[in-house]
Amino acid sequence: MTTRFASRKVAIVGAGAVGSSFAFALAQAGLAEEIVLTDVNVNLAKGQALDLAHGIPFYPTVHIRADESSVAYRDATVVVVTAGKPQAGPGQSRLELLQINAKIVTSIVEDILTVNSEAIILIATNPVDVLTHVAWRHSGQPRGRILGSGTVLDTARFRWLLSENCGVSAQNIHAPILGEHGDSEFAPWSLVHIAGVPVDEYCPICRKCNFVKRRPEILEEVRRSAYHIIDYKGSTSFGVAMAMTQIVRAILRNEEGVLTVSAPLEGEYGLRDVTLGIPCLINAKGIVSVIEAPLTEEERSLLAHSAGILKESLASLA
Ligand code: NAD
Repeated sequence: MTTRFASRKVAIVGAGAVGSSFAFALAQAGLAEEIVLTDVNVNLAKGQALDLAHGIPFYPTVHIRADESSVAYRDATVVVVTAGKPQAGPGQSRLELLQINAKIVTSIVEDILTVNSEAIILIATNPVDVLTHVAWRHSGQPRGRILGSGTVLDTARFRWLLSENCGVSAQNIHAPILGEHGDSEFAPWSLVHIAGVPVDEYCPICRKCNFVKRRPEILEEVRRSAYHIIDYKGSTSFGVAMAMTQIVRAILRNEEGVLTVSAPLEGEYGLRDVTLGIPCLINAKGIVSVIEAPLTEEERSLLAHSAGILKESLASLA
């Protein structure tokens, strides 16, 4: 009797800086059997796929190619959306960009579902929380099958900065960033654990720095990270590629992983009709549950503030 393994095909829409870096990270992680890139810029997708395919002798076994979108979506377990327009200079407002990218992402999600209603859809295009919410609402899909990259990258940045500050491996630091993937995100310090110890109890043991003073500086550094990288090199790509690989790993390996993806809230934390970065349990079905962590009153109000900002963006689209 032959055993039939589920296909692990990942389609990537948008073969720019983020899409191609994600393809590279995913190929090296050995998680997918097939990676297919698609882009309105057909030559870009072809060129990226060819360049990536030349690494095939060195990756764990994987097939990489470019194809037209409907073929890319068919049979994909996960479709990752990184397609969008970048800001066209200072003359274009964020709102204009939001309107353009909302149209692009909504129509891509519609096309994916026409050929493959089983795919889990992961969105990275910015503003990721608003676009995930709009695309999900438009799709009529159950909650959890369309998710955004949320604050998974911001959380990684936070863990790295804490690791540098405290001299403890980032692997031994649990520290989420919650809310909007953007300026209103915040650090719920009550959930931060270093070496398994709540941060407020860890600091008096460590005493290497004045951590109370350092906290706002570290959070500000997380918030400003993307701006710094964009100033230096024009766009961010490697960190987000690793963050998305972690999310796709949780889906393809049915991991029950906990990640701060963009999830639509349905009453959790007293919030609804908004999508933002929040700890979620993720497996092959996508988001299986939103974890309602015991935040302090102040942290709950920071989350509500971030939700309010996202709702204003959503309202501007209506
Ligand atoms: P990019 O301009 O390099 O690539 C975008 C690609 O999308 C282009 O190749 C373009 O041809 C393609 N595209 C546009 N419309 C399309 C459509 N309708 N169908 C298929 N392809 C289409 O941009 P990038 O640097 O790769 O960034 C992509 C997105 O990811 C941006 O919105 C960026 O803000 C976002 N991003 C998100 C995070 C995160 O953490 N969520 C981090 C970094 C960047």
